[in-house]
Amino acid sequence: VGFEGAGLVEAVLRNVARCGYESPTPVQRYAIPIALAGRDLMACAQTGSGKTAAFCLPVVSGLLAAGGSGIGPRERSSFNRAAAKPRALVLAPTRELAAQINEEAKKFSLQTGLRVVVAYGGTPMYNQLRDLERGADILVATPGRLVDMVERSRLSLEAIKYLVMDEADRMLDMGFEPQIRMIVERMNMPRKPMRQTMLFSATFPPEIQRLALDFLSNYIFITV
Ligand code: AMP
Repeated sequence: VGFEGAGLVEAVLRNVARCGYESPTPVQRYAIPIALAGRDLMACAQTGSGKTAAFCLPVVSGLLAAGGSGIGPRERSSFNRAAAKPRALVLAPTRELAAQINEEAKKFSLQTGLRVVVAYGGTPMYNQLRDLERGADILVATPGRLVDMVERSRLSLEAIKYLVMDEADRMLDMGFEPQIRMIVERMNMPRKPMRQTMLFSATFPPEIQRLALDFLSNYIFITV
């Protein structure tokens, strides 16, 4: 069975084919229809399971179905310093993982007009801020750098429709829980129905269950 029939929009199916993916991995087979149905999701999945595409594909497809890029041409060309307002946010524990997710999200967004921007610490913020100012539909970020940008008012989280937390157990192990909580609290409302939240984690200890209870609503749990 291929990717057709899962409900992904045509442009995304073309990009999946371009990547050479012929059939979905188990986590993709379960997660994509759930995410496309608008449900919150908690998925136990390891690295190598294909989890990146499992959340990127429905996010890209959903953004396109909702009306392409949210950034109008006038806003794009002006040198305003208004805060960027991405519609999707992917949180990842490390710069390496953030960079990897960024690459994959870019492949799935080819020829769609959607803009993917990455932001992580350990490197000057200047280029990342410039990328954000040019317009970002999907932002992939590590929690510390993200909080920094929000506190400098260069980034607003009020338009976030999709929130993905990848490798959530590693983010907690690294001590990012306060930043994650601050980030989610900056979004419209912590549990406002307009936001769809997906939490991916290799393990499901009590701290992760707490995070899921606090930030997901009526979620579906899958394990592969
Ligand atoms: P991930 O678990 O997201 O880090 O993905 C592991 C690797 O599998 C990556 O190199 C992906 O490009 C690849 N991959 C993901 N989904 C598929 C698929 N459906 N078919 C073939 N390769 C895939």
